[in-house]
Amino acid sequence: MHHIEQIYINGEFVTPHGSERFDLYNPATARVIGQVRLADAVDAERAIAAAQAAFPGWSQTTKQERIAALQRMQAAVAARHDDLLAAVIEEYGAPASRSAWMASYPAEAIGQAIAALEAFEFVLTAGAARVEMTPLGVAGLITPWNSDAGFICGKLAAALAAGCTAVIKPSEMSALQTQIVTEALHAADLPPGVFNIVTGRGDTVGETISRHPLVAKISFTGSTQTGKAILRNAAENFTRVTLELGGKSPTIVLDDADIKQAVPLAVQAGLMNSGQACVAGTRILVPQSRKAEFEQALAQAIAAVKSGDPRDNATEVGPMVSEKQWQRVQGYIQRGLTEGARLLAGGEGRPEGTRDGWFVRPTLFTDVHNQMAIAREEIFGPVLCVIAYRDEAEAIAIANDTDYGLSALVLGGDAERARRVAEQIQSGRVLVNTLTHEPKAPFGGFKHSGVGREMGAWGISAFMEPKSILG
Ligand code: NAD
Repeated sequence: MHHIEQIYINGEFVTPHGSERFDLYNPATARVIGQVRLADAVDAERAIAAAQAAFPGWSQTTKQERIAALQRMQAAVAARHDDLLAAVIEEYGAPASRSAWMASYPAEAIGQAIAALEAFEFVLTAGAARVEMTPLGVAGLITPWNSDAGFICGKLAAALAAGCTAVIKPSEMSALQTQIVTEALHAADLPPGVFNIVTGRGDTVGETISRHPLVAKISFTGSTQTGKAILRNAAENFTRVTLELGGKSPTIVLDDADIKQAVPLAVQAGLMNSGQACVAGTRILVPQSRKAEFEQALAQAIAAVKSGDPRDNATEVGPMVSEKQWQRVQGYIQRGLTEGARLLAGGEGRPEGTRDGWFVRPTLFTDVHNQMAIAREEIFGPVLCVIAYRDEAEAIAIANDTDYGLSALVLGGDAERARRVAEQIQSGRVLVNTLTHEPKAPFGGFKHSGVGREMGAWGISAFMEPKSILG
């Protein structure tokens, strides 16, 4: 059993004022594996005060000093790779297709921020003006469970690169990985108060941070619903926000796509992270003229996906993170059937060979209309929809007919044509015949998928305010 009893404030592990204990589960067995003692609003206040006190010193550090600190953080987090790997499998059920990335990405994310900082221009000119990029102050970083160590490290590295100090509120469900990352970051020996980590509930710690007048910036990754609450809270003090929210991403299969290349990419995009990914390509748009052919190939591919024990190297889809999430996904599968969609693979219940854990059958629906709930709402599970379109214009219209706009994938034989389609998609990112992201490129959403951008120089300037000096 894991017992996590302390939070991290002002360079020290301390016992929280909060006394509530939160059970941690292994989603593959549905058994309790430990408990975390949660911080409360008093702890959040202390963490904010520590970050505020550390800000004048940290904001004056040179670029070289910040690079050196981030390099120490990167090395310390990389040294905990194996512990992180064990944690993401145990507390999250990350399957082999995902766990290796989840364990290595936290250090990589810091490395990406270092590269961005090295190239970052803190002083620019605009005509007669000298433009100084100045750090905003204390940053509140609020992260979700679905890749928590990576989000913590990526957001923190960008905030510190900008010269901000930070209060981090990770998800209470990822306390194991948070503990490992906190120990690693502590070993990196940064000045006390520069970063503080307070695991607690959203409606106490998260609310305190997002309403606080001393917090100058909120960088949030999580659901669209919570993003709205944070935006409302932030309005009180004009707190700057970056919001990375949900998605209902389209995969547009053009009529000249090679089925052998397109199907594996579409399936991988849709089932990424067991479907618990903001960028998951959950709406697969296929040409009416090739609908039957794609239905058959996609159904075969989904039926062959191995879902089960995340410790097994062959596993591609692991369990849902919680029972609540399992129920939610089951509810959407039932809803799809009620709405008149036709099942091509999977369905309700658990996959064969699994008993206790929160496993879902990888599911594929066809005859889906874009107005159905399964095509409009983020399910956050391995449930994909096939939607047929008549021509390219209709494919683009369907792809854009959504509240979201985080990611899209275009698959086609003629790369030029596929790029022309990509240009017409309203989305922060459009991948063309690839699933590889460019870490120097901005990442974020159009419409209800978010506000602002992370990654690269955009990620650093999100923690800064430009100041024009004239004369
Ligand atoms: P969530 O919104 O429930 O929680 C995210 C974080 O916000 C948690 O730390 C939670 O405790 C906190 N929180 C909850 N209520 C709060 C409040 N009122 N004030 C302040 N903080 C509060 O999201 P989740 O279920 O943990 O994560 C899944 C969601 O995250 C999905 O919608 C997914 O699409 C989204 N997501 C987006 C991205 C992206 O980059 N765009 C990446 C990963 C996940």
